[in-house]
This record gives sequence, C-alpha cells and structure tokens, in this order.
Amino acid sequence: MEKAYRYRFYPTTEQEQILRRTIGCVRLVFNRALAARTEAWYERQERVDYAQTSTMLTQWKKLEELEFLNEVSCVPLQQGLRHLQTAFTNFFAGRARYPNFKTKRSGGSAEFTKSAFRWKDGQVYLAKCSEPLPIKWSRQLPKGCEPSTITVRLEPSGRWFVSLRINDPTDETLQPVDSAVGLDVGVSSLVTLSTGEKIANPKAFDKHYQKLRKAQKSLSRKQKLSRNRDKARLKVARIQAKISDSRKDHTHKLTTRLIRENQTIVVEDLAVKNMVKNPKLARAISDAVWGELVRQLEYKAKWYGRTLVKIDRWFPSSKRCGHCGHVVEKLSLNIREWDCPNCGTHHDRDINAAKNILAVGHTVAVCGANIRPDRHKSKGQLRKSPERSRRGKKQKPES
Ligand SMILES: [Zn+2]
Repeated sequence: MEKAYRYRFYPTTEQEQILRRTIGCVRLVFNRALAARTEAWYERQERVDYAQTSTMLTQWKKLEELEFLNEVSCVPLQQGLRHLQTAFTNFFAGRARYPNFKTKRSGGSAEFTKSAFRWKDGQVYLAKCSEPLPIKWSRQLPKGCEPSTITVRLEPSGRWFVSLRINDPTDETLQPVDSAVGLDVGVSSLVTLSTGEKIANPKAFDKHYQKLRKAQKSLSRKQKLSRNRDKARLKVARIQAKISDSRKDHTHKLTTRLIRENQTIVVEDLAVKNMVKNPKLARAISDAVWGELVRQLEYKAKWYGRTLVKIDRWFPSSKRCGHCGHVVEKLSLNIREWDCPNCGTHHDRDINAAKNILAVGHTVAVCGANIRPDRHKSKGQLRKSPERSRRGKKQKPES
C-alpha cells in the first residue's frame, strides 16, 4: 500500500541555502514551461507535451543567464515538469482549472526520486547535501520500509516539511462491521451523520479567524514591497498554518473514527471548485474542508478495508423527503427545518440529507451505477401558482 509520511525538519544553513535555491529553480522551470505551453496554444494552437518541455529544459541550461540551473539537482526540475503535465491533463479532462504560475511567497516544493537521494541508516541524504536532513521523527516509518520518493516543502509560514512516500506491505484490514453511515456537508455544522449526529468545526477556529482577519487587515495597510509588508505577510501565513494544523488534526480524528465504526461510508461527490464560486458558501466550505475529509476517508478506507461510496452530486439529497421520496422544487439555504408537503414529515435539513445520501449509497453499492432517482413531480409545478410569492419564507419550501 502506498503511503506518505510527513515530518517537520530543521535544515542546516547549508541545506536551507541549497533547498531554497532548488525550490527557486523548480519554480522558474515550471513557470517558463507553463508560459511556453500557453503561448504555443494561444498563438499557434499547438499542444506542447512533457517530452518537449524536457528538451526545452536542456536548452535553458545551456543559456548563460540560466546557468545556475546546473547548480541544483536536475531531478526536482524534471519532476516539476511532470507535475505541470499532470496539471494540463487534469485541465483538459475538465477536472481542474488552467494551471497557475507559481509565486515565491506561496512557498514551494521539490520532489526527489530514488536517483536523487540516499537512504542510509534511517537517514535521508538529498543530492548536493553533505549532511542528512535533520528530521523530527514524530512517528516511526513501518519496519523495513524505504522511501521511494521524497518531497521537501517550504510553507509560506517558513516551516519546512518532508514527505516520504513508502510502500507498506502490512495488512491493516479491520474486522468487518455491520454499520453504514451517510455524510452531509454542513453549512452550519461541519458534517451531519445519517445517525442524526452533528459534528461542529473545532472550537478554536473562531478565535484563529478573528486573529487572521486582524492580521490580513494590517497586511493590506502596509506599503507594497516594504520590509513591513513582508513581516505582516509572514504573520498571516503563520496564523493560516495554525488553522490548517488544527483543521487537519480535527479531520484526522473524525475520519479515523468513522472508518473504525462503519463498513460503508457514503458521501456526495461535491465539486468544491464549483461551490467556492458561491460567495455565501465559500467560507463555510473552505472551513469545512470537505475535500480534505473525503480525501482522508478515501485512503483510510483503502488501508483498513472499508468502502467509501461517492454518489452523484446532482442527487437532490436536501430537497428530497427521506420518508416518501417527494422532491420539493426549492429549498433555500436558510431553511434549516421543513415539513414535507406530501406526507407531512418534519425534517431537519441536514439529517434528512445525510439519510438520503446513505439510502442512495446502498443502492449504488448494490447496482454499481450512478443513481438518478425519478423525481416525484408535483402537479402544482405546471401551474403558475400564487405560492411563488412565498419564496424566502422559512419553514415553507415550495412544492
Ligand atoms: Zn414526504
């Protein structure tokens, strides 16, 4: 099983210099290749592929003004071009937006494959570095495992992390259990379970966010290109790192628990990219880190022998009555509770949605198909009903 172990490390002065230079070169090569691909496409309608950018890299290294590219390990530069290729593949497949240029202030990373590092006595020696990386081993690598790829990352906050990818042969399949659960993305709470349980965002979040807002305001007042602006930016980055840490900690605990307790977990396959466009939802969604949650569930399900079912995101999970199957036409986000106009059942919006998701998940697991249930169209829909004016009133969805 492929796994990645991430650790903090504190580079020596020499290592920091080399790594910062390497990351800078990775960024430069990536941005140049992106520019070349963009230009080729928009001006000549030509597609440039990985092999062509790799040839370009060889030529750039011969240029006098880019001679410094020869001073760093070539592997991370090549890997950067591979990542760019992946970004384009995802873009052409409609899974992602057009790749962006990398900026210095967002940190950066460098990926070393087997030929660019040495693994000796449980220590990592990167190419061009004489000493091993001073890694803080917060947990042990599984016995007998050697990393196949090593990624060094510099965060905008200035912290260094190293991620070791390993192939772990241990079988960690858990004893099968009977239960299954459906999850709904929360707007007010992080996640709602089909059992009726609601899980909130970590308490510390509000305090962190207040601090973040203050720091961001202070940053926006600083003069461009000034030393103070850099300091203010670092402060913002540090708070963001804190938020991301506490968020990850929270989601890890939650996903581990869900995986332990359930054989099957059903989630909606939400495209976060689409949801973030909705400004009202944006904060809630990025807070809720739905993508991160699903990502963790995905790999943990694989590790521990559980099933994660993703259902069609166009399934009307919120608008469908879990009791009779009636689908209401509209249910605005501010409606937290509603009564089914068909059977009169009273629903908590999120719990009803989570139950629907679980129900569909069961069907998907059996049929293995993308389920689009028949919509129970109400007769009133065809009439121009005077009820339209009720839009926006709480507790009364249009039927
Ligand atoms: Zn109903």
